[in-house]
Amino acid sequence: MKCYNHHDRDAFGICKSCGKGLCLECLKEKNGAIVCKKNACSSRLGRGRIWSILTVVLLSIIVLLTVID
Ligand SMILES: [Zn+2]
Ligand SMILES: [Zn+2]
Repeated sequence: MKCYNHHDRDAFGICKSCGKGLCLECLKEKNGAIVCKKNACSSRLGRGRIWSILTVVLLSIIVLLTVID
């Protein structure tokens, strides 16, 4: 796989948010995950985590309500 921004360079890592190949110059590490340096992928990744936490909380509330009924 080649870097998404530099088609002549080999990709060093793959963005966890958008799945694009990135060379060392284009990637950035965020909370142990590789994301695009230029794109808004790092903030998108953070937002995704908040949503997954919210989903877990909502699911547990639904489960609790079902158990009470
Ligand atoms: Zn690159
Ligand atoms: Zn990305």
